[in-house]
Amino acid sequence: MLIRGGTVVTEGGELEADILVEAGRIAEVRPGIAGDGAIDATGLYVLPGLVDPHTHFALDTGTGRTADDFTTGSASAAAGGVTTYINFAIQHQGQGFEQALAAVREEADGRTHVDYSLHLNITHLDPGWEAELERVVDRGVSSAKVYTTYKGTVFYVDDFTVHRLMERSGPAGLLVQMHAENDDLIEGRRRELAAAGLTSFAYHAAARPAVAESEAVSRGLFFSRVTGSPIYFVHLSNPLSVDLVSEARARGLAAVAETCPHFLCLDDSVYGGRDAIRYLMTPPIRDEEMQAGIWARVSRGEIQTVGSDHCGYSLDQRGSSVDFREVSPGIPGVETTLPLLYTFGVDANRITLGDLARLTSTAPARVFGLYPRKGRIAPGADADLVLFDPAARGPLTDSELHTAAGFSPFSGLELRGRVRTTISRGEVVYDRGRVLGLPSHGRFLDRLPFDAARLG
Ligand SMILES: [Zn+2]
Repeated sequence: MLIRGGTVVTEGGELEADILVEAGRIAEVRPGIAGDGAIDATGLYVLPGLVDPHTHFALDTGTGRTADDFTTGSASAAAGGVTTYINFAIQHQGQGFEQALAAVREEADGRTHVDYSLHLNITHLDPGWEAELERVVDRGVSSAKVYTTYKGTVFYVDDFTVHRLMERSGPAGLLVQMHAENDDLIEGRRRELAAAGLTSFAYHAAARPAVAESEAVSRGLFFSRVTGSPIYFVHLSNPLSVDLVSEARARGLAAVAETCPHFLCLDDSVYGGRDAIRYLMTPPIRDEEMQAGIWARVSRGEIQTVGSDHCGYSLDQRGSSVDFREVSPGIPGVETTLPLLYTFGVDANRITLGDLARLTSTAPARVFGLYPRKGRIAPGADADLVLFDPAARGPLTDSELHTAAGFSPFSGLELRGRVRTTISRGEVVYDRGRVLGLPSHGRFLDRLPFDAARLG
């Protein structure tokens, strides 16, 4: 395969070059490579395939299951230029770590259009967990999420469990990821709102105040400081949370901040509208000032990664409730990260094209132990590439998407650019609106143990 005439974008900048692919890997990157049957990339940006570090395909919370399974979710990923996604594998009641991972492998293997890996979602520590933790890292699962919220569900873990886990996670080579929201602050606010009869979707954001996030981030950083274990904060929405992470990094902690496109491209006015049901995720979307604050920190390089937090419930699955307490949170997003960050980031002069490649591909590949195989355009790397057409402009519509959720919270936004073609290990898996190839193409990826030296 030869890709000719495009502008190759890497974290280091842009280069007019052709890309020769052999046996699924990049063989050469330079101008003027000769050969027949080239893919014409004239006028297109050629970026490293996105590494989405945060998806919830086939999420089963016990009360509901997402419309997107691995096949539809990965089709949506391919259409979004995502060539690797890292999905969460919940440790259900009665399961050990290895059982939880094996159950998800069973469901995903052979049913994914692009490559994938798994994060463990630890919900409890059984006797013997320490040795099991080392075994899962050995088998390529080097990250695990804990939730500090959703008390009363399988997800919530108490502070003792987080601290106990972090006493071991660093030496084991495991990166602990935290969904940071102080559950007591949220519960108290929900009670107040409910007592006042304020339970419509308009109050979803008010019920989960930004201070709850920052308090839990502060606690996670404290545990990191006293245990020496690295920590990664998923989906940060409050600039103060990012500042706490930056201060900790300055002190030498291995702490990483992730944000999501919805915190960058939407503000909380969406909850006042009739379509508020399209924007129910946690943490909620914040006000314009916080949105600007998150952008400023992305621009300054203080936020390391962007993940979609794709959680594809359909609007039908939301049921008929109009009470924010009765809806499973989550929105689809794996397909829209690239055009959103191009439009509101690159085109708005907030980030460079190189930043775009770093935030969406190279940095997550490094943090999660997939680099140098993924996340770069250079000889030897997997030929995971996305051809992006900056001239394809227009409002995003639900009907152009491939997620089984059937909608996007970003529909209606005027986007500059669309994914033209997605290539996974040298195979075209998406081209001009159509997902190509078979869901047997994608493979499970073993990841390296966490190494703080890769954070740079
Ligand atoms: Zn999530």
